[in-house]
Amino acid sequence: SALFVFVVDPYFFNAERAEKMPHRLQYMLDALAVLEREIARRGSRLWFIRGRSVDVIPRLAHAAEASEVLAMRWTEPFGRERDRQVAEQLQVPLVLHEGETLLPPGSIRSLGGRPYSVYSHFRRRFLDRYSHEPTLPAPSFLDRSPLPEGFDVTRCPTLSDFGLTANGMLQPGGEPHARQRLDLFLDQMVQQYGTGRNDLGRERTSRLSADIKFGTLSIREIWNRVRTCDAPHEDKSTFLSELVWREFNYSTLWDHPEILRRPFKPTWNDFPWRWDPDSWRAWMTGTTGYPVVDAAARQLLQTGFVHNRARMISASFLTKHLQIDFRRGESHYLRWLVDGDWAQNTMGWQWAAGCGADAQPWFRIFNPITQGRKFDPDGSYVRRWVPELEGLETRYIHAPWEAPPEALEWAGVKLGETYPHPVVDHATARKDFLATAKAYLNPQTPTSGAGTFAASAVGSAGGFRATSQPA
Ligand code: FAD
Repeated sequence: SALFVFVVDPYFFNAERAEKMPHRLQYMLDALAVLEREIARRGSRLWFIRGRSVDVIPRLAHAAEASEVLAMRWTEPFGRERDRQVAEQLQVPLVLHEGETLLPPGSIRSLGGRPYSVYSHFRRRFLDRYSHEPTLPAPSFLDRSPLPEGFDVTRCPTLSDFGLTANGMLQPGGEPHARQRLDLFLDQMVQQYGTGRNDLGRERTSRLSADIKFGTLSIREIWNRVRTCDAPHEDKSTFLSELVWREFNYSTLWDHPEILRRPFKPTWNDFPWRWDPDSWRAWMTGTTGYPVVDAAARQLLQTGFVHNRARMISASFLTKHLQIDFRRGESHYLRWLVDGDWAQNTMGWQWAAGCGADAQPWFRIFNPITQGRKFDPDGSYVRRWVPELEGLETRYIHAPWEAPPEALEWAGVKLGETYPHPVVDHATARKDFLATAKAYLNPQTPTSGAGTFAASAVGSAGGFRATSQPA
C-alpha cells in the first residue's frame, strides 16, 4: 500500500513568492487539482500536508513505517540539496525516478568521462545510449492508507489563497489537457514540424513545454509516440532533437550549477552590461518600437508563453541591441513563463547572449526586422499581439518607421503616439555592441570607430577590460 503526499511548503507557497511566478503557480495548481481527482477516482487520496518537505517527509516515513520513499529527481541545485537533506534524515531509501529527463543527468559523458559542452557531440552520444524505454500505463486502482496522526493536513491550494486571480489566457494545466495537446500535435503538426516550428504566426509547435516541465505528461511517452508516429523522418528527428537540447541543458546545469548565477563561459563574467531603466521598461512592456520584439513581450505578459523564435529574437535584442545583462531578461521570463524552468531558461538566455554552452556566437546579432520578415512574413504574429499596427500594410509591419505618411495615416498609426519610435537604431546598436564585445572579449584586436567605442561603455558596471579606457 502507498501514501500519496504533496507537501505544501511555506517556502514556495506564500503570497510573496506566488507573485513572482503567478503563471507557473496557476498551471501547477490546475495540474494538482486534476491529480487529486485522478487519485481519488482510483480509490485513494492525495494528502496535502503543510510544512517543510525536509521535515514532513522523514517524519511521515517514520510514522507510517514506510519501506521506501519515492519521488521525482530534480536537476536544480536547490532540489538536489532538498533531496540530499531528506535522504540524510530517512531511515529507509529515497528512490528518485527520472521524471524530468530521459536519461539521468550527468550520465552522458565523453569517452574520457567528461561532460559535453557541444550539443552535437552530446546528441550523438545520447542517441547511441538511449534505449527508448517504454512507459507503463497508469494503475486503475490504488490502495488507500490512513495518514498517521500529527500532520498538518490542508486542502489543495488555490490561487486565491495567495491573493492571485486566474489568467484566462493561460494554457490549462493537467494531464487531460497535456494529452489533448500531444494528440493535436501528432495529428496535425508534426508532419511539418521541421519548417513549421519557426513560423511565428501559425501555432505549429506542440506547446508541451509546461507539461514536460511539470511532468504532467511523461517525457518518455512523448518521445515514444513521436518516434513511432506516421510522419516524415526529418520532422520527427527535428522534434526529438529539441528534446535532446533539453537534456543537454539539464545535463549542463547538473555539472555546472553555478550557471544559475554566472555565464557558462567565465570569460564573460565581467562583461560591461549597461543599465538603462527606460529601454528596459520598453523591452518588458513591448514598446521598443520593433514590432516582433514587442509582440514577444506582450505575448509573454498576456499568455505566459512565447514562441521559441520570438524568445531568441527578444533575448538577442535585450542583450545585444540594449546591452542589458541577460540575467535581468532571464528573471523576467522566469517570472511570467508558464514553462519557466531554471535550466532551460538560463541556457536559452545564455545561448542568445553568446555566453552559454555551445551558444550563438557573440557577433551574430539577430536583425529584428529581417527576422520578422522571414518568420512572420504576413505579419500575423505582430498583428495579433500589437493590435495598434493591425491595419498597417504587410510590407511595413516589421518596420513601421519606413512607411510613408499616407500608409501610416491609412492604418491609424501615429508614430510616437499610438506606437513608439524605435528605442535604438538597429545599425547603430549592432555596431555598438560589436565594438563593446570585441573590446572586452578580444582586447588585443583594435576596435574601429572611437566614437562608437566610447558610447558603448556608458553605464558599464566595473570590470571593463578594454585596452584603452572609454572617453
Ligand atoms: P516545441 O517546438 O513543440 O518543442 C517540443 C519540446 O522540446 C518543448 O516543449 C521543449 O520541452 C523542448 N524544446 C523545444 N525547443 C527547445 C529549446 N530551444 N531548448 C530546450 N528545449 C526545447 N523552454 C522551457 O521549457 N522553459 C523555459 O524557461 C525556456 N526558456 C527559454 C528562454 C529563451 C531565451 C529561449 C531562447 C528558449 C527558452 N526555452 C525554454 C526553450 C523553448 O523556447 C521552449 O521550450 C519552446 O518554445 C516551448 O514551446 P513548444 O513546447 O511548443 O516547443
